[in-house]
Amino acid sequence: MSRPRILVTGGTGYIGSHACVCLIEAGFEPVIVDNLSNSSRIVTERVARITGFQPVLHETDLRDSEAIARLVREIRPAATLHFAGLKAVGESVSDPLRYYDNNVCGTVSLLQALDAGGCRVLVFSSSATVYGDPDTVPIPETAPVRPTNPYGQTKVIVEKLLLDLCAADPRWHVSILRYFNPVGAHESGLIGEAPRGTPNNLVPYIAQVAAGKRAHLSVFGDDWPTADGSGVRDYLHVMDLAEGHVAALRHALANPGPLTLNLGTGQGVSVKEMIRAYEAACGSQIPFRISPRRPGDIATCYADASRAREVLGWQPRRSLAAMCKDSWHWQSNNPDGYQ
Ligand code: NAD
Ligand code: UDP
Repeated sequence: MSRPRILVTGGTGYIGSHACVCLIEAGFEPVIVDNLSNSSRIVTERVARITGFQPVLHETDLRDSEAIARLVREIRPAATLHFAGLKAVGESVSDPLRYYDNNVCGTVSLLQALDAGGCRVLVFSSSATVYGDPDTVPIPETAPVRPTNPYGQTKVIVEKLLLDLCAADPRWHVSILRYFNPVGAHESGLIGEAPRGTPNNLVPYIAQVAAGKRAHLSVFGDDWPTADGSGVRDYLHVMDLAEGHVAALRHALANPGPLTLNLGTGQGVSVKEMIRAYEAACGSQIPFRISPRRPGDIATCYADASRAREVLGWQPRRSLAAMCKDSWHWQSNNPDGYQ
């Protein structure tokens, strides 16, 4: 029996590559479109080593409307998982045009191609960053949306566009997934997060300190109104997140209209707790220094994750220890990422 084809934009990236593994294991055929601006073609070989199936990669930019329209006509995907986008908050502040162009214009180009091809099932990668500094935690999907940077704005704009599309045309089936903090790697250690240059995020930075590539971690503030003074986030194993996409895909295939869901664990973990968990996983100390707060940071952010459990029957199953263990396995096997 042939596998339903799923177009995976950004499929060679961090989350997209893990989603490809889960799609294949669930009986789908991922077809990747990626411009490789933040990823490597080697990923498809690694996915093949894990699953026995190598996804086809089309090296194309989503903003190349003609090429995307041609691709959609050719492969006729049953659905699209739309991961492709730029995601560095600081860079989005210094270069907003690039972010709006890539994330918003790229999505418009993709949606036009999918609409013209009659392929109207889509799962979109949004982010908890749309909530900005929340009034209360845990954060439900009904909380106000007020992003504090251009990256978050691009997510809000695309979310709104997708809602407008569903309102205008009932043939669209759309899941908007607001991820909290994905970390870790596939348990094989063959795929993982490979940031270029200095990591912006906590866990990849800790991983490089553990590997001896960086001297120490800077903890951005220990005077936050949290139990130990360091920032609190909702860290989620990337394989749980990838499995959440398969659940959201199945739901979207069966149900018209829009659905907006948080994907997180609902548990807050502080920077200092993460350091201790990573030390246990890698067996060495993570040297750290307390530094000033990072501009734009917030104290605490974690999900009310109940809607995803109710609607999709999905909930994360991997522990904080597993997130650190799998991150370390990937980092120690691939000290320079995919290079
Ligand atoms: P990533 O950078 O590893 O993957 C994104 C992929 O998209 C890359 O392979 C990149 O080359 C590709 N890409 C970017 N612009 C493109 C374009 N115009 N055309 C074709 N390909 C393009 O990032 P990730 O961490 O895997 O994130 C995937 C999605 O999830 C992004 O939309 C991101 O905003 C969102 N998200 C990520 C996080 C996180 O912490 N990683 C949290 C919330 C939401
Ligand atoms: N953080 C830190 N040092 C770093 C990177 C991050 O102390 O080098 C803190 C940051 O202030 C926040 C938490 O770790 O409290 C998670 O940061 P990350 O950038 O990974 O996620 P986000 O803040 O975007 O949710």
